[in-house]
Order: sequence, then C-alpha cells, then structure tokens
Amino acid sequence: MRVDVLTLFPEMFDGVFGSSILGKAQDKGIIRLNAVNFRDYSGNKHHMVDDTPYGGGGGMVLKPEPIFNAVESLLESDPPQQGQGESLRPPRIILMCPQGETFTQKKAEELAREDRLIFICGHYEGYDERIREHLVTDELSIGDYVLTGGELPAMVVIDSVARLLPGVLGNETSAITDSFSTGLLEYPHYTRPAQFRDHKVPDILLSGHHANVADWRRREALRRTWQRRPDLLEHAELSAKDLKWLAEIKLEQQ
Ligand code: SAM
Repeated sequence: MRVDVLTLFPEMFDGVFGSSILGKAQDKGIIRLNAVNFRDYSGNKHHMVDDTPYGGGGGMVLKPEPIFNAVESLLESDPPQQGQGESLRPPRIILMCPQGETFTQKKAEELAREDRLIFICGHYEGYDERIREHLVTDELSIGDYVLTGGELPAMVVIDSVARLLPGVLGNETSAITDSFSTGLLEYPHYTRPAQFRDHKVPDILLSGHHANVADWRRREALRRTWQRRPDLLEHAELSAKDLKWLAEIKLEQQ
C-alpha cells in the first residue's frame, strides 16, 4: 500500500512513520508512507496556502490551488496501476475533517483493501469548499471534537489501517480478536503472576483446557460489551449459545 499525506507540517509524521509497527511495516516493504508539504505546490511566489474568507469573518481558509496541485503532481509522478483484467483503481483521496463520516474499525477494514490512499490535513478555520466538492472521495472525522489540525487524525487512521495489512502484525499481536473486529469488545487478558497481591487469575485460564478457555473468553467478551457498549450487540452476529450466555449474564448482573 502507498500512503501520501498532504500537510503543512510533514515533520510531525517522522516519529510516527519511523517507529514501532509502522516503521517495521515500511522496512518489510508492506507499506510506503510519504508526508508531502503542500506549501511546495502553492503556485505563488509568497508560498501562500491560505487566505481570508469571502463574505468576511475570522479565520483563514485553505486555498484550493496548493492542494489540487499537490494531488495532481502525486498522481502524475506515480499514476494509478492497472492490473491484468482489472479496471483502473483511482486512489481514495481522504479529507480529514470534523464534519466527515466518523471513522470506525469497519472503515479501517474497507481502506485496508485499497492499494493507494492520499490524506489531506487541514489547519486553521477550514478548507475552500471546492476541495470537498471536486477533489476528495471521502471525508473522515475521528470523533466529535475539534483539533488544531488534521495531522493527528490522519495518523490515527493510517495506524489503524496499516495494522490490518497482511504481515504487519507479528504473532505477539493479532487484529482478529480485537475489539470491534468481532463486533464485540475484546475479552479481558491476564499474564503472570497467577496471584498478584490478593488478586487471582481466573482458574479456567490456568486449566490448559482450550475449549473451556475459548468459551470463557467469548462469554466475557459478551459481558464486557453488554456492560460498556450495549449498542454493539444490536449488530453483532450472535449464535444461539451467545444469546443463552447473554441472558445468563444479564441475570447475574441483577
Ligand atoms: N472550522 C472547522 C469546523 O468547524 O469544522 C474546524 C477546523 S479545525 C480547527 C482544523 C483542521 O483540523 C480541520 O480542517 C481538520 O483537518 C482537522 N481536524 C480537527 N478536528 C478533527 C476531527 N475531529 N477529525 C478529523 N480532522 C479534524
């Protein structure tokens, strides 16, 4: 996967792209991460990327030219590839924006199936509306709050997409049982020591009985989801056994 990020602060990405699992994924050649300063594409001698809003009022608005120019330059220097028998797959161009669709694990799974993503990070008051109307394919928000810029939100999205790409996570971590991937919150974890102060690990996890451990984990994932995010249960795929356990859990909590 190739990921380009258009930003006024490319240095913010150095640590995140170069460290830990993202750094290793790049070393393995699974993902290519590239931060581009769209000020370099301003098209004017003062390198201006923003201007005052038409109609008056405070705040600066990001101009369309630098962002259109940067995206077009990226696409010209590395055009979308066409595989044998495949139709041309244009890249997803994603605007980071508090007014966008709220980012979820489902969206991360959808983006992980792409081979090219371009992120646009705003700053200041907002974007010229023509960027939304004529350039981007998606608008994503990471939640109902406002940050100073789109860099942290883009990092959040890129990190969660990258860890779903085959080969990125080692055996020590797995995306399959993660919260939301299964439709539920994940079950609780324990590690050594078996007894810490007065607190014991549940006996079943020490039993070595794999089927019983799997049942316990599923049941505890149901319990945790019911306690913390009951809304998720409305869309989760639940077996007859799950429904029986849920009924028991609800009785236990009364
Ligand atoms: N005036 C804008 C509004 O009310 O919608 C907010 C602009 S915000 C100060 C500046 C930039 O930060 C945005 O253009 C966007 O790129 C980014 N940003 C802020 N909060 C965000 C969020 N929750 N999700 C995604 N991007 C966000």
